[in-house]
Amino acid sequence: MATNGSATNGNGAAAPKINGDAYPIIDHTFDVVVVGAGGAGLRATVGCSQAGLRTACITKVFPTRSHTVAAQGGISASLGNMGPDDWRWHMYDTVKGSDWLGDQDAIEYLVRNAPAAVYELEHWGVPFSRTEEGKIYQRPFGGMTTEFGKGIAQRTCAAADRTGHAILHTLYGQAVRSQTNFFIEYFAIDLIMDEEGRCRGVVALNMATGEIHRFRASMTILATGGYGRAYFSATSAHTCTGDGNAMVLRAGLPLEDMEFVQFHPTGIYGSGCLITEGSRGEGGYLTNSEGERFMERYAPSAKDLASRDVVSRSMTMEIRAGRGVGKNKDHIYLHLDHLDPKILHERLPGISESAKIFAGVDVTKEPIPVIPTVHYNMGGVQTNYHGEVVTLQGNNPDHIVPGLMAIGEAACVSVHGANRLGSNSLIDLVVFGRAAGLRCAEIVEANGKHPDLPKDSADKALARLDRARHASGGTPTAVLRDRMQRTMQNNCAVFRTGEVLEEGRGLIHDVWRGAADIRVTDRSLVWNTDLIETLEFENLILQAVVTMESAANRKESRGAHAREDFPDRDDQNWMKHTLAWVDETTHEVKIDYRPVHTYTMSNDISYIEPKARVY
Ligand SMILES: Cc1cc2nc3c(=O)[nH]c(=O)nc-3n(C[C@H](O)[C@H](O)[C@H](O)COP(=O)(O)OP(=O)(O)OC[C@H]3O[C@@H](n4cnc5c(N)ncnc54)[C@H](O)[C@@H]3O)c2cc1C
Repeated sequence: MATNGSATNGNGAAAPKINGDAYPIIDHTFDVVVVGAGGAGLRATVGCSQAGLRTACITKVFPTRSHTVAAQGGISASLGNMGPDDWRWHMYDTVKGSDWLGDQDAIEYLVRNAPAAVYELEHWGVPFSRTEEGKIYQRPFGGMTTEFGKGIAQRTCAAADRTGHAILHTLYGQAVRSQTNFFIEYFAIDLIMDEEGRCRGVVALNMATGEIHRFRASMTILATGGYGRAYFSATSAHTCTGDGNAMVLRAGLPLEDMEFVQFHPTGIYGSGCLITEGSRGEGGYLTNSEGERFMERYAPSAKDLASRDVVSRSMTMEIRAGRGVGKNKDHIYLHLDHLDPKILHERLPGISESAKIFAGVDVTKEPIPVIPTVHYNMGGVQTNYHGEVVTLQGNNPDHIVPGLMAIGEAACVSVHGANRLGSNSLIDLVVFGRAAGLRCAEIVEANGKHPDLPKDSADKALARLDRARHASGGTPTAVLRDRMQRTMQNNCAVFRTGEVLEEGRGLIHDVWRGAADIRVTDRSLVWNTDLIETLEFENLILQAVVTMESAANRKESRGAHAREDFPDRDDQNWMKHTLAWVDETTHEVKIDYRPVHTYTMSNDISYIEPKARVY
């Protein structure tokens, strides 16, 4: 509470009294406020600032600590530096990888704009690895092919195995250069929505001082990343709690395709730390307890480079058939020990170090113990390919929510559909981050006038903060979080059946109801990690519930959503996106659908018809 009273009261707005505590509010007005400073948030921030818009970027961690920094393998674009390539082949692979749930107009937008986005990064200073002739080096990645599935493409541009690190630091430099206003270590609590359903800004807590800041903006862009931490074992950072997604649910808007959670085949057994797919791109392969390269059976053509859902499922099947390795026969080996140590040193130095630290393995001599681990959320906030948030209204599945955008892993554009191809996320961040900036330049007036905010505009966010801060129930947040993470891991993982999901529904709703009994011990507002983790848990549980409900509802197998009781993809009944809303009062989840966009953006390529996936 030390600094609470020292906050100035910007527009003279009356500080609401909640539970007897005053929260003075500091007001700000910007043309655009971006929540999130990962690859997506920073790229949008640069675009908006360069368009002359007054732009703020709010982030709960220092920008270069965002999860994007951990991306290893690379960023896809059909540059054709290592052999012939074409954006149409990249499009085909992405549609097929998505198991025909991706929106084909958005996919065309992504892959057509990808090469320019990579060159832009190069010109801004990303130190890409190089070929002998000095061109950007590109490696093969799962599901990336030439000639519409005939050959293996080398399409993934890399800066060794620290591509995200290189990109994020470069983007941060550009954002500083374009004079963005950063609000660092500010935790966004909730959106400000007006009665007409327009987003008018966001309310945030300065975690260092405890001051409340209210940001009024013509456009609010959510770039808050994924929610991997709803699960027990995840490759994502502890900060990946999907805060933006939960704000959208609380604003009464739906999330899309939340049942599609990607498991990366190669998380290090025990820690979940990622070993990039680039390691298989460089020649690594998987074996079972019989020393067999089993991927040759499941995917005779793509083998170890089949897409992630296929490899994760094959590994799980080997383990379930009793052919796992280790004492409990519950994991698989990844071999890099046959590769030239020079290549390992040059192209995969980061993962060589991770394997040593987290598995005690020298990759030049021994295999790495690995297991499928939660890695990416295909679902998120429904948007069009300009980044604008859309929702189902009446018969219109693409009604634009004014004042609100979403990009990056938080968004569901949807280019990844039921399954994302490796290296297609980093390109999604910069292509749609750029698209959001371009759209803002078109529709947001620079230094525009802002109508006054409704008097109670911060009340909802403050009530939530205050409730969490004074929560005095019997269950510590950490206990509930653990229950949620284990339920998701056990009941909503790679293999799913109606029975397992039904049990999961019961368990996850119990955890949600249990949140009423939460206990927070620290009442201060200054660096109160107990409070922040509670707000993050509240965000996670909403998404966990929606994920479980959407998975129980979808009675087919598609991409990352594999149901043992419905093993086939059912295009007749299920080639549609799931939309899910929550009602926090009644604890109910409502599910509806919107059609997949079966049309392209231009006439340069025609709609790619659904086919069985053969690898
Ligand atoms: C280990 C790992 C390796 C990967 N490797 C690759 C790869 O090689 N290629 C590839 O294409 N993809 C890869 N991915 C996926 C890709 O890196 C992520 O999908 C992507 O980086 C997400 O970027 P983002 O900008 O959407 O969000 P993030 O980078 O997660 O950033 C989220 C931002 O939102 C902010 N934020 C969140 N909540 C709040 C709040 N309440 N208030 C204020 N700020 C908030 C955070 O501070 C942060 O700045 C990898 C992912 C992981 C986990």
